[in-house]
Amino acid sequence: MTTHYLFTGGRVLDPHEGVLRDGLGVLVIDGRIVEIGTQIAPPQGTEVIALAGRTLMPGLIDCHVHVVAETLDLWGNMVAPASLGALRAARVMNEALSRGFTTLRDLGGADVGLVRGVNEGLIDGPRLIICGKGLTTTGGHADLRQRTDDRAGLFSDRVGSMGLIVDGVDNVRAACRKLIKEGADFIKVMANGGVSSPNDPIHSIQYSREEIAAMVEEAENAGLYVSAHVYTDRAIRRCVELGVHSLEHCNLIEHETARMAAKAGCIAVPTLVAYEALAIEGKQLGLGAAEFEKIDIVRDGGLKSLEIMAEAGLPMAFGSDLLGQLRKYHCMEFALLAKVLSPAEIIRSATIVGAKLCQLEGQIGEIVVGAFADLIVVDGDPLSDITLLGDDGAHMPLIMAQGQIHKSALA
Ligand code: ZN
Ligand code: ZN
Repeated sequence: MTTHYLFTGGRVLDPHEGVLRDGLGVLVIDGRIVEIGTQIAPPQGTEVIALAGRTLMPGLIDCHVHVVAETLDLWGNMVAPASLGALRAARVMNEALSRGFTTLRDLGGADVGLVRGVNEGLIDGPRLIICGKGLTTTGGHADLRQRTDDRAGLFSDRVGSMGLIVDGVDNVRAACRKLIKEGADFIKVMANGGVSSPNDPIHSIQYSREEIAAMVEEAENAGLYVSAHVYTDRAIRRCVELGVHSLEHCNLIEHETARMAAKAGCIAVPTLVAYEALAIEGKQLGLGAAEFEKIDIVRDGGLKSLEIMAEAGLPMAFGSDLLGQLRKYHCMEFALLAKVLSPAEIIRSATIVGAKLCQLEGQIGEIVVGAFADLIVVDGDPLSDITLLGDDGAHMPLIMAQGQIHKSALA
């Protein structure tokens, strides 16, 4: 099997500068970019891929997914046989790769088995960055039990479960240590009410300051960080003060908090399409009035939050957070972001900002020597037309992840 590829005759996208560079060849050997230049002499056996003026760009990074949520029936996912859950997740991952996403950051559910499944070639999917399970309080955003369901966290450890119910500082520390031991790349906390959960209004603040501070300490001791599910300005502010690094959603953030977060070096992950998709399909899915009310609150705040965060200089990583059959709307996030951000800003969010959040700067999200060969070929210039990154990969004749060709429609 060929492991040497030389891309020639295309334009190489530099996400830092937001420009295309002509005349550069890119040599890939054994999954890595080993040379970029105008005069590359490839070793024997190298497959030459002629781009004929197309754009070669780094593979996309989605910094907020849940690959185990194959259906919208979250209880159903949770109680499904573990083997079935893993196979379903593999399908979700494969679909994302076909849209050009060569790295996914999973915010609850994916385990190290899925990470290894990709690395061992069992899953034709993107690299996974995982937190294991998201930590939730009793009654918090990842506690899916109805009010009268008093079963203790029975299913929390199962493959299809996205969260772990943990209360109290000592238990939180033990849970963090266990997750880190099991391969977590970061710790996820549900620090605010949510849309898809039954008992917590959007404004509810979740976990005490002491519990979140304990998570931050445990994560930082391991060289990792905490990521928080947050919507309201108050919840975001509290997390920034407590040392949380990644701020998921942020729909209701206000100017001062955005500036504080930027100063603290935080990264936000807006996920506008999640609410857009729920608004489109919610009725058919049987969502009730209370859930629609929650969706409207965060949906209205979404576009405004992008303006606020951009103005504050708070870096934003691309996220989607689509569950179940709603994931067919994945690429709509590009169009939503384009209402506020320029194509270059959107591409940065889905490449270099995402790489930073995955703690893989220089390894993914850019075409540099030494980086993984996560590459996509685009018909045209996405810096002038961001819709080329949409339509489920229709404008991407070639997708390569870690030096393996996932799709090639080029001669
Ligand atoms: Zn969330
Ligand atoms: Zn999520």
